[in-house]
Amino acid sequence: MSNENVFPRLSGAALAAVYIIAALLPLILARTQSVAPMDGWEYAAAAMGMIALWGMAVQFVTSGRFEAVSGQLGIDKIMAFHKLAALWLALALVLHPLAYILPTWMADPALGWIRLQFYLTDPSYRTGVVSFGAVLALIATSILRDRLPWSYEVWRGGHVVLGLTAVFFGLHHAWAVGRFSAEGALAWLWAIVALAVLGVMAILYGWRWWLLHHRPWRLASVIKRADRMWELDIQPAPGTPALPYHAGQFVWMTEGTRRFPLFDHPFSIADSPRRDGLSLLIKEAGDFTNQIGTLPVGRVIGIDGPYGEFSPEAHPAEALLLIGGGVGIAPILGILRDMVARGETRPVRLAYTVGQPENFACLEELRAATEVLDLRLWLLSEDQPDAPDMLQGRLTRSRLSEMLDGLAPADTKALMCGPGPMVAAVSDLLLDLGMPMANVIYERFDYAAGARSQQDRARTRNILSVGAVLGVAVAGFALSM
Ligand SMILES: Cc1cc2nc3c(=O)[nH]c(=O)nc-3n(C[C@H](O)[C@H](O)[C@H](O)COP(=O)(O)OP(=O)(O)OC[C@H]3O[C@@H](n4cnc5c(N)ncnc54)[C@H](O)[C@@H]3O)c2cc1C
Repeated sequence: MSNENVFPRLSGAALAAVYIIAALLPLILARTQSVAPMDGWEYAAAAMGMIALWGMAVQFVTSGRFEAVSGQLGIDKIMAFHKLAALWLALALVLHPLAYILPTWMADPALGWIRLQFYLTDPSYRTGVVSFGAVLALIATSILRDRLPWSYEVWRGGHVVLGLTAVFFGLHHAWAVGRFSAEGALAWLWAIVALAVLGVMAILYGWRWWLLHHRPWRLASVIKRADRMWELDIQPAPGTPALPYHAGQFVWMTEGTRRFPLFDHPFSIADSPRRDGLSLLIKEAGDFTNQIGTLPVGRVIGIDGPYGEFSPEAHPAEALLLIGGGVGIAPILGILRDMVARGETRPVRLAYTVGQPENFACLEELRAATEVLDLRLWLLSEDQPDAPDMLQGRLTRSRLSEMLDGLAPADTKALMCGPGPMVAAVSDLLLDLGMPMANVIYERFDYAAGARSQQDRARTRNILSVGAVLGVAVAGFALSM
């Protein structure tokens, strides 16, 4: 169940401010502790350890499963933050012991190495070393995920275990040998952080597990919509409340005896909230989705959601460009179905791109929508099309310009979902055609999507600036002590 009604949805800038202020709290509390005088580098080392520990704990809520955190940003942005924050907290962890030994190393390099070896091998520092090792393993297994011989579920379970190892061994290290953290207000703050992480785990794997079992849904039908693509109609079982959602959002879905949060998969809702139940359009892509077409009608389904901000409600505009590539048509179809259901009057331009014409799904429904909406449709297939209203090729600049014809780019929003390279290329072309960056909204189905758009790069810069502020805070802490 999403927590969107419980917590306010914060903008990206507000979330960044909360993140920075909360990260500064340990440093502020440390200022109130009296410790034996240290070198400035040692203060910097302590500050980096505290900020890394704080950052590790926050990673548990930037996993895309907390609507209060990701609701305003969308899964693409929140996962970008999660990945970049992992890098700066790893950097802080690498520098944490090095900064402690730097003064010694500068005076006597041999003695500096002895001190470093001591930190890495002495039993009193062992939990810190384990925590550091867990962070490195987390990053390595994430970078190499597609090349590891593990199922996604095993990787995901391992990610949780390594994350818990990193944070709890790190907390033990802070309590055991931390100059500022061993006692006083800071020790209590770390206790609160430990409880918060346990609370997050209880929500993710206890409360949500309970909901998956006590608010079941049922599979009402499975229909083949295109080559290796299936549409599932899922209805709430008696006693399960309806899901309040906006067209374009997504849910996490599990089925049968696999109804445990570790085994769920994200799928966009290809439906209008004005219809009962949920429709999902699912493409065969691996272990779970390959058997989706064989699920028996009546099978118990677990639904957790809704999530995300990929919906016209979250992005008001005078006109809309809807762009779907491959199975990326799923949320677009949901948005379109909702527009038909509520009699949308704004101009809508929809482009649907596929590799082969047999990959087009729900074509008759899309064509019928042009009769009742102010909708123009572009059907693009890379292979030879098999219908007169289809075009061959990709979504080029000239085709996008045609789509924007008669619309004011500043008042139009583009909602796009598709493969990473297509999303990056089309996003950049739309900016070239005069659309403001904030008006180009996209969602990708693969967090690891390689190609990067101008918007991705701007996002990276914004996120890295949060890390840079923390770096300045570390320097300020060291200089002010
Ligand atoms: C926000 C979002 C919405 C999505 N909506 C749809 C949709 O409407 N229709 C559709 O067909 N697909 C959708 N996907 C993709 C879909 O979740 C994956 O194709 C599916 O989970 C693959 O699972 P698998 O076991 O069949 O394949 P696997 O072989 O296990 O995985 C193939 C790839 O899918 C991704 N994946 C697998 N499991 C998960 C998971 N639990 N969480 C996140 N990513 C995972 C990974 O990148 C993995 O490399 C969406 C993905 C996201 C992130």
